[in-house]
Amino acid sequence: MRNIPYGRQDISSEDVQAVLEVLQSDWLTQGPAVEHFERMVADYCGADYAVAVNSATSALHIACMAEGLGEGDWLWTSPNTFVASANCALYCGAQVDFVDIDEKTYNISVAKLEEKLHQADEAGRLPKVVIPVHFSGQSCDMERIHALAMQYGFKVIEDASHAIGGKYQGKAIGNCAYADMTVFSFHPVKIVTTAEGGMVLTNDKELYERLIRLRSHGITRNSAYMAGETHGPWYYQQIELGYNYRMTDLQAALGASQLKRIDEFVMKRDYLAKRYTQKLKELPLILPYQEKSASSAWHLYVIQIDGTQCSKNRRKIFEELREQNIGVNVHYIPVHTQPYYENMGFAQGDYPVAERYYEQAISIPVFFGLTEIEQDYIISVLKKVLN
Ligand SMILES: *Cc1c(COP(=O)(O)O)cnc(C)c1O
Repeated sequence: MRNIPYGRQDISSEDVQAVLEVLQSDWLTQGPAVEHFERMVADYCGADYAVAVNSATSALHIACMAEGLGEGDWLWTSPNTFVASANCALYCGAQVDFVDIDEKTYNISVAKLEEKLHQADEAGRLPKVVIPVHFSGQSCDMERIHALAMQYGFKVIEDASHAIGGKYQGKAIGNCAYADMTVFSFHPVKIVTTAEGGMVLTNDKELYERLIRLRSHGITRNSAYMAGETHGPWYYQQIELGYNYRMTDLQAALGASQLKRIDEFVMKRDYLAKRYTQKLKELPLILPYQEKSASSAWHLYVIQIDGTQCSKNRRKIFEELREQNIGVNVHYIPVHTQPYYENMGFAQGDYPVAERYYEQAISIPVFFGLTEIEQDYIISVLKKVLN
């Protein structure tokens, strides 16, 4: 059996053609293909505005900046995420705190969020921004998080890096019905790819205008935002400090071509996930739990080794799967246990549910190009390894 990764892009000859066309056109960096891709994603998700950038990490950074996050402010997120969901606060000079996860969904626990908000309110230390992460592609309970945002006055930035193509309450994730902004990642292991790339969606025109400026040095060509008079058609002004976070037209052309197949991508992932759930249910594993309100994009399929029923530990099982050419992975090492975060005062034991989950979790392969034969192989190896 070939080496099977946990995730992998699927590039069609149409995708290749779309990139070649841009390569031979007048624009290579941000141009008409970026604008087209932004429109496509916004329309697909049902959001008003979309701003493409060079990664989801950059998207999270400018989303936080657009909310004015800075020194003295707090940002809260889930410990069960990639470090970027928390680092964006530090880029802005703000402080990070975490809310432990729900035992079933592995998403941020709304009950614990509510409790922590209540305490923070009394201490006068409410967060300015909360970043719920739609872990593995399954939406957090956004209606309840939105209600808490109204009650306590914080902004919501969804980290939907895993979740483009997923739904919540029957509507596309990214519509920003319950969030100020939604962030997507187009890294190759995610649902659709632009090689590197990310996007921020919003329904707020002012946030949109600010995001556009922040991705390109803080420069504006719109006289409405300028101090004083324009000098002529060439004129621009830098009115705040931004970055070069632009996406190239080459990447956007790939993204637009990929997006045409998004429903196909997600349907195949959903098919494979259901097939795993069916065929693994007799094994000593905890399988992914799905909320009724959510329809996952299945970026990840995570199994947990049930320590009470299985004599081998997670590490042993992981290593045996790798030896059999199955490219398993682990998502995620709780962010607060990273040395950088421990140096800031976080410690093992702070978020016990995320820590216990981490000790038992293995991500097994799920991606568009995974064949049933390969999946059956993975299932048969799992059965042997677990017995
Ligand atoms: C992949 C990922 C990111 C970062 O995405 P990049 O596009 O690689 O910057 C952020 N948050 C989560 C949850 C991710 O999975």
